[in-house]
Amino acid sequence: MSTIRFHALKEAMNRSPRNVEAPTEKISDYFGSHVFDKKAMSEYMPKDVFKLVMSSIEKGTSIDRKITDSVALAMKAWAVEKNVTHYTHWFQPLTGTTAEKHDAFFEPSSDNDNKVIEQFGGAQLAQQEPDASSLPSGGIRNTFEARGYTAWDPSSPAFIIGKTLCIPTIYISYTGEALDYKTPLLKALVAVDKAAVDVCRYFDKNVKKVNATLGWEQEYFLVDKSLFAARPDLVMTGRTVFGHSPAKGQELDDHYFGTIPDRAHAFMNELEIECMKLGIPITTRHNEVAPNQYEFAPVYEETNLAVDHNQLLMDIMDKIARKHNLRVLLHEKPYANINGSGKHNNWSLATDTGVNLLSPGKNPKSNLQFLTFLINTIKAVYDHERLLRASIATAGNEHRLGANEAPPAIVSVFIGTELTKMLDQLVKKVKDDKALTADEKTELKLNIGKIPEILLDNTDRNRTSPFAFTGNKFEYRAVGSSSNCSSAMTILNTIMAKQLKQFKKDVDAQIAKGVKKDEAIFRILKKYTLASKDIRFEGNGYGEEWIKEAEKRGLSNLKTSPQALAEMASESTIKLFEEQGVMTKRETIARQEIAYDLYTNLIRIEARVVGDLAKNHILPTALKYQNQVIKNVQGLKEILSPSDFKNAASVQLEMVKEISHHVKIVKETVEEMINERKRINQIDEVKDRANQYCDIIKPMCDKIRYSVDKLELSVDDEIWPLPKYRELLFNH
Ligand code: ADP
Ligand code: MG
Repeated sequence: MSTIRFHALKEAMNRSPRNVEAPTEKISDYFGSHVFDKKAMSEYMPKDVFKLVMSSIEKGTSIDRKITDSVALAMKAWAVEKNVTHYTHWFQPLTGTTAEKHDAFFEPSSDNDNKVIEQFGGAQLAQQEPDASSLPSGGIRNTFEARGYTAWDPSSPAFIIGKTLCIPTIYISYTGEALDYKTPLLKALVAVDKAAVDVCRYFDKNVKKVNATLGWEQEYFLVDKSLFAARPDLVMTGRTVFGHSPAKGQELDDHYFGTIPDRAHAFMNELEIECMKLGIPITTRHNEVAPNQYEFAPVYEETNLAVDHNQLLMDIMDKIARKHNLRVLLHEKPYANINGSGKHNNWSLATDTGVNLLSPGKNPKSNLQFLTFLINTIKAVYDHERLLRASIATAGNEHRLGANEAPPAIVSVFIGTELTKMLDQLVKKVKDDKALTADEKTELKLNIGKIPEILLDNTDRNRTSPFAFTGNKFEYRAVGSSSNCSSAMTILNTIMAKQLKQFKKDVDAQIAKGVKKDEAIFRILKKYTLASKDIRFEGNGYGEEWIKEAEKRGLSNLKTSPQALAEMASESTIKLFEEQGVMTKRETIARQEIAYDLYTNLIRIEARVVGDLAKNHILPTALKYQNQVIKNVQGLKEILSPSDFKNAASVQLEMVKEISHHVKIVKETVEEMINERKRINQIDEVKDRANQYCDIIKPMCDKIRYSVDKLELSVDDEIWPLPKYRELLFNH
């Protein structure tokens, strides 16, 4: 009997939900209680300091060093009252951060000294030199000679985890280059703010700031802690590298795990409470798609804050799940043939006057503004579809993209039938040599006003589109569940900044020629609509026909992550980031190198796990079972006449042969794969290495998996060492 597996099953079955209690009945009593937010700041800071801080947060300017002491003092006073003993700079290095890896940054810098917070002052708040020499830097920060620095990001408030005050910071090299996700994101947000404000001024002179907004939807799986621990592949890679899917029609044993949904609920309750304390406005959702899969989604926020909140959520999800004897799987594809997990990024732009620029308005003026931002977004996506594809290219997401339950690797935009009609009208009516009549203009603008109700109705939504307009925002659905949203958000906001600047230039050029403003806007919008037509697709994104059609249209279909990553530092990308002030050439290239390297490392770890598990768990089990069958055959031979034996043992002999067949494939492929890895590891170019891991090592893992999964079906259930899919997943 496989002791670990059955021991784990027994433990999983015997658990009961953890008791969870909210601090008080009213959420408003504790919402944000662990955040040094506006309210706390106004209470603890001298009035003039508070004013200065707020104004620089609102304007996005840096805070004067002269007042940081005073800010730190206030922060410390607030934190100490909440029994905080330590502080840490909290940042997002380019590790493709998962909750586990992130953990270390929560750790207090000095373990025993509970007076650490006492030393906290302006200097500690503003800048710090973390001991983080092993974090990836793509060659920018030479580990032995230079250092990385963290510096306070006032736009995201400090918060408390346990007894530690966490200060959101950027992470840069000694020479000022970005080593994290946040730095380029903040720059992209500045770029899109400026570009969007300039365009907004065509419609409203009062607009002074435009914030990119982000509302993420975080999908994840839960699994019992003991079952998780009994699967070394889950422990090491976050996904199951083996496992036959439960037979079709076979109901998962819900009586077996009848208690787990309650545990999941208790987990969600506690998580919600912790999120509320941290000011993360989430709500729980059940996801019907896969067993044991769930979703959290917050109310949307300004992008930088939303990203921090998502990172924080992923961290605390892990911590709280453990308390409930559960583990969270954030991997994009923990189980083969079962729906994977994504992180939809709902995105829009909002003015400081309270207008959502992607929300169709009620009057003609705001409608033209809406159309302007809608069409510019489509154009930006069209011009940079390859880069957007690169923004979501990770080892984990590769399992998901292009598979039939997930967005295709082709980037396209869905806007719905009504808006499509609207754009068709625009193209038809606007003539470059003839001005629109007042009636025509009003009609065009008014028609948009009828759209929101239709759009917000769920029937006009396309769930197969990777980039869909959903009534008052775009939803970038192809982002991976474990990713930092910054990768996608930095690129989306940067291409939008570039596009809006171009739009302003084009419209101003028309105006300079004597064309009236509205007319000029209409003309340029028509031009963009025509130019970007090919990115719009309303049909089934999962269908075969779309792949052919997209190819005809000249859209890219970058199937693997290394293929897509090539775009991350292409000449046009380097230029884009330089022009928009988001990243230098060196930073862009470093980032690509890190992404290739990370990809290679993750596939390498998976391949090792495949090899180890196959050799140490699967082959011995298969041979053990084969011996049992052989014994049976020998026994039959002893007691039966030769003619009876032939008949009675034929099936068993087939089984023996089949096991040998798969054992051989597994053994040989594992060996072949080890040799190939040795060869590939010698390659100098990060790009080549990543591509070969993708094109050579991954198919070998698949081949091994195929045979292992066949063996799982043949071998006696009693001795199979790894918890099976039907045990890891459960019905509710
Ligand atoms: P779905 O049908 O995809 O589950 P919902 O309509 O429930 O989508 O909303 C999804 C997310 O969109 C929510 O997290 C919400 O906060 C976010 N969202 C709504 N409006 C905006 C906006 N203007 N900007 C960014 N995100 C938004
Ligand atoms: Mg969604």
